[in-house]
Amino acid sequence: MEPIDKDTNKVKLVVAGAGLSGLMLAWKCLSSNSQVSVTIIDSKSVIGGDHTWSFNISDVNPSLHKWLNPFIEHTWEKYDVKFNGSSRRLNIPYCSGNSNSLRACVEPFIKSGRLKLILDTKVIKMTSSEVIICNGKKITGDYIFDARGFTFDKSIKLGFQKFYGITIETKKPHGLKYPIIMDATVPQYDGYRFIYCLPFSQNKILIEDTYYSDGNNFHEGEYNKRINEYIETKNWIEHKVIRVEKGILPIALSVDIKLIEKLEAKHNEPIKIGMRGNFYHPVTGYSLPEAVRLSDKVSAFINETNKNNSLEISSKIRKYKLHTYKRDKFFRLLNRLLFRAAVSSKRHFVLERFYTLSENLIKRFYSGNIYKKDMLRILIGKPPVPVHKALYYFSERAFMAREHSKRD
Ligand SMILES: Cc1cc2nc3c(=O)[nH]c(=O)nc-3n(C[C@H](O)[C@H](O)[C@H](O)COP(=O)(O)OP(=O)(O)OC[C@H]3O[C@@H](n4cnc5c(N)ncnc54)[C@H](O)[C@@H]3O)c2cc1C
Repeated sequence: MEPIDKDTNKVKLVVAGAGLSGLMLAWKCLSSNSQVSVTIIDSKSVIGGDHTWSFNISDVNPSLHKWLNPFIEHTWEKYDVKFNGSSRRLNIPYCSGNSNSLRACVEPFIKSGRLKLILDTKVIKMTSSEVIICNGKKITGDYIFDARGFTFDKSIKLGFQKFYGITIETKKPHGLKYPIIMDATVPQYDGYRFIYCLPFSQNKILIEDTYYSDGNNFHEGEYNKRINEYIETKNWIEHKVIRVEKGILPIALSVDIKLIEKLEAKHNEPIKIGMRGNFYHPVTGYSLPEAVRLSDKVSAFINETNKNNSLEISSKIRKYKLHTYKRDKFFRLLNRLLFRAAVSSKRHFVLERFYTLSENLIKRFYSGNIYKKDMLRILIGKPPVPVHKALYYFSERAFMAREHSKRD
């Protein structure tokens, strides 16, 4: 079967999914290598969805800041966290981009023809060498990537971060200069609840009602009501809603590495990236920093080889993935302590304590690269969860075995 579009570029990438990870990968590979062309297939009619993606700038390697800059729409030098017992302003620059800025980054490549879009087209099947779309057509390429977003996987046990957000325009300036990443002074329901605020301008602000919950049941009406209660307390009553955003993100409690190794050993699979490949921060469910990291790795690899070496790159990505699962072991322990050892109504104490730690540790925590001494620092002191319960949830293997036996 011939590729759907014949072109003279030497390396052809085919990506299923024009969301964050698919577009980041395309943008990085196209901007770093003139020999690359990319075809992206998406079931929707518009690429990039309708999202705001935020992150600490320290989550991204400094060597990539210049490249990522056109994606970033807003930067704040500091942000706040608020708990009933304490509040803190952190000097950690916080950034956000969105679907429009992401589309603008890839636009020149669409115009030049190096990025081809196949929209309104559902991908039915994928292998390491081809993508089969809804009309039965096959699209072949040198490298095939699956970026179709999150899917449940029996090798990972999850908790959930649920959120419902509105962007409003207030009649009078809302008065917030810096984001509030966590306002946990609000009444607690359904696990750990907090409000997240991103002030985009003097009158425009994104407000999200967020829950770290055991279940993924979603009560939009209730969340909307609670956001409006928050708006009342802030005196932002005179406003109009200009956008709504909602989602449920996976929070990894435990991973069965043996099972993953077995699943990853299949060689006829496409290369899974983004949420599809489980490339996200285990504690926040955020995937932007990993999407940037992985795009850079793939692009560097293609630059090095510049020829079809699909097997080698997928084996490199698999190795990297196994490395991230091993690297993130401690984060999953924290999630088990938060979700299982802590009483649901007291989960906020865990976070309140965490935010008393040093800024550098907090930066390292969110970038996913913490030191052994950070782990000790996080665990020592007066435990916010009962010790016997903490010990019960300590072993990931035992936890996973108990979870598997519950299901059987
Ligand atoms: C509301 C919300 C806010 C978030 N905020 C942040 C944040 O601030 N910071 C952060 O780092 N992370 C955030 N995340 C988490 C994560 O970064 C996003 O979910 C991100 O969009 C995931 O990227 P992705 O490419 O894996 O999947 P997606 O961006 O979801 O893209 C998947 C794409 O695949 C397409 N697709 C799916 N199935 C098919 C098919 N069969 N055929 C063809 N196309 C298909 C979809 O249409 C979609 O375009 C947020 C998530 C949500 C839901």
